[in-house]
Amino acid sequence: MLIDTYGRVATDLRVSLTDRCNLRCTYCMPEEGLAWLAKPDLLTDDEIVRMVRIAVCRLGVTDVRFTGGEPLLRPGLVGIVQACAALEPRPRLSLTTNGIGLRRTAAALREAGLDRVNVSLDTLRPEVFHTLTRRDRHRDVLAGLEAAGAAGLTPVKVNTVLMRGVNDDEAPDLLAWALDHGYELRFIEQMPLDAQHGWERSGMITADEILAGLRTRFELTPEGGTVRGSAPAERWLVDGGPGRVGVIGAVTRPFCHACDRTRLTADGQVRNCLFAREESDLRAVLRSGAGDAELAERWKAAMWGKKAGSGLDDPAFRQPERPMSAIGG
Ligand code: SAM
Ligand code: SF4
Repeated sequence: MLIDTYGRVATDLRVSLTDRCNLRCTYCMPEEGLAWLAKPDLLTDDEIVRMVRIAVCRLGVTDVRFTGGEPLLRPGLVGIVQACAALEPRPRLSLTTNGIGLRRTAAALREAGLDRVNVSLDTLRPEVFHTLTRRDRHRDVLAGLEAAGAAGLTPVKVNTVLMRGVNDDEAPDLLAWALDHGYELRFIEQMPLDAQHGWERSGMITADEILAGLRTRFELTPEGGTVRGSAPAERWLVDGGPGRVGVIGAVTRPFCHACDRTRLTADGQVRNCLFAREESDLRAVLRSGAGDAELAERWKAAMWGKKAGSGLDDPAFRQPERPMSAIGG
């Protein structure tokens, strides 16, 4: 098992397939993009599948989420999904994507064994989408969402980040739209993981503000009482259910005590926390010819040292070197 000194067990693996992206969300990347990883530094498709196999077959991982950067930009994605779906025990497989290109690939991904998708969409207004992502692709995202639903990649979840003065007036409209389409909406507090290091606590729309905005139009009741478990999203029934909405208050309502995540970057570094400042270079171990047992031991050691919390509330908090897009959000 991937256990740490606080007794938490990681069963949920986030795999970043690329650090590249076709959008430039302002809370994530600068307009000019970033210095992308060089091809030889990226794990190959086979290396990724091997690492996932070790996680699933030796280390107790039950859920695998592919992310990035934009994972749909990875040419071998369908093959990677297919190989991971053939593992025993079979992990649950999901994908976090901006939805561009999903219209073309949703059916093939479903066929390959993908169970679900999370599609990121912050606004219903094309012009605001352009301001937020610096690209004119709103229609492509909507088409991707529709294709995901049609292909059975359900429940389709939608991730939304609200930005003050940009889209923070849209929370109730987004929820009405999501309920109407059968999507499960989750708002995520903006985190200090942008490449530009421009995040400011005062600028962030907090979970409390998000909930207050939603309550101007909907009645929200906590789902399952107040017990939250390891899920980062607090979930609320909307107008008595069955529709629901999630709020991920990573900054103001941290869930580190129950965290069950482990992360693998596109260049083969294991991270035990989104906010960790250290990584464990499993690519070097892998390429030195190590066997599965040794890789598993190194992965366990990487997780054992996981800190109690993100440190966001510590005045000495410093952002990790890598931005969200390179870590894998
Ligand atoms: N490109 C894909 C996408 O956008 O879904 C996958 C990678 S992206 C880094 C994963 C998620 O992280 C997205 O839902 C995005 O909105 C979110 N995200 C990116 N930067 C963030 C930040 N600074 N704070 C909170 N969420 C962020
Ligand atoms: Fe790309 Fe996702 Fe970052 Fe937006 S949030 S720039 S879609 S990686």
